[in-house]
Amino acid sequence: MTAPRIAPQPRPGVLQVAAYVPGPPAASGHRSFKLSSNESVLGPTPLAVEAFHGAATSLHVYPDSTATALRTQLQISHGIPACQIVCGAGSDELLKLIGYCYLRDGDEAIFSRYAFVSYLINTLAAGATPVVVDEQDYRVDLGAMLERVTSRTRVVFLANPNNPTGTYVPRQEIIEFHRRLPQNVLLVLDEAYAEYVTRDDYGSCLALAAAAPNVVVLRTFSKIYGLAALRLGWCAASPPIVQALQRIRPPFSVSSAAALAGVAAIGDLAHLEAALRHNERWRPWLAAQIAALGYGVTPSVTNFLLLHFDPRAGESGIWAFNALAEQGLILRPVDNYELPHSLRLTVGTAEANQLVVDGLRTLRRRTAAS
Ligand SMILES: *Cc1c(COP(=O)(O)O)cnc(C)c1O
Repeated sequence: MTAPRIAPQPRPGVLQVAAYVPGPPAASGHRSFKLSSNESVLGPTPLAVEAFHGAATSLHVYPDSTATALRTQLQISHGIPACQIVCGAGSDELLKLIGYCYLRDGDEAIFSRYAFVSYLINTLAAGATPVVVDEQDYRVDLGAMLERVTSRTRVVFLANPNNPTGTYVPRQEIIEFHRRLPQNVLLVLDEAYAEYVTRDDYGSCLALAAAAPNVVVLRTFSKIYGLAALRLGWCAASPPIVQALQRIRPPFSVSSAAALAGVAAIGDLAHLEAALRHNERWRPWLAAQIAALGYGVTPSVTNFLLLHFDPRAGESGIWAFNALAEQGLILRPVDNYELPHSLRLTVGTAEANQLVVDGLRTLRRRTAAS
């Protein structure tokens, strides 16, 4: 047999994926602020750092494959049975497993126009077809999503609150949406920013994930817990879903250091409170100041804001990005979301927040003068 003279070919869906673009790093040199990845300004609790160092004495030992101690802590703090929890190397790993387990060629996955980009990547990677539903004012339209459900729909991805928009859906609307969703469709609720939300009508759907046969709720230690570098996330779901994910997950993807730090982080409620208070103080301040300069700001319940520049005034996201980056202020371009006139801004330190407002004021003067 003559060998075909072509190089190895990946699955077709893989070639449709545009590689993930991470938030730009802080520029080297002093006075640079990375406001591009929604990281916690306060960083992790010192208790987590201490636990991380403690892991150094047993680097030769494989981690506990299912992170039992961490799942036990999560059970205590969230009331979800430990056997209904799966931990992963960031919630991103769990999203990948969900896509692999529940999507195949010809299936459809539904998500909204400005949904977190991982859903598109994992849908395409699994060979499935993305069904993208328009939003209203950067808000998810659950009614429109329901209308797009077909016999081919297998998964609905929903970040609540969503990144990069910062908007949310009230808990009751999700419960209603789930009630009307066919039971063979998996509802994936990504609650990466849940701890930041203080609205009365917002609520985590962890209890729904524990009770329903077709709901997964994803949580992460990367955001308010300040442990993004360690790669630690988890999800709650019905036992059959948990078992499916466990079958194919890399058995040691959660390092001992990450699991230990996670347990310590859960234990420091005061640190969590402090991170929340900082955000509650500065996000509304940033939103008000930036709106007063005449820029569009989408109302956010998270630790970031989506800012909108004015194309009629010749402004673009990359234009604002470059001008702010010159001053060491690194925001997140969102062209990959087809939002070329917007930037995403993470709430920073008091100093960084003040500098961002000053920088935007200078920009405004520049466009007003030209
Ligand atoms: C940051 C983020 C995550 C977290 O990803 P990790 O892999 O846990 O770091 C998940 N979903 C959304 C919407 C996010 O913004």
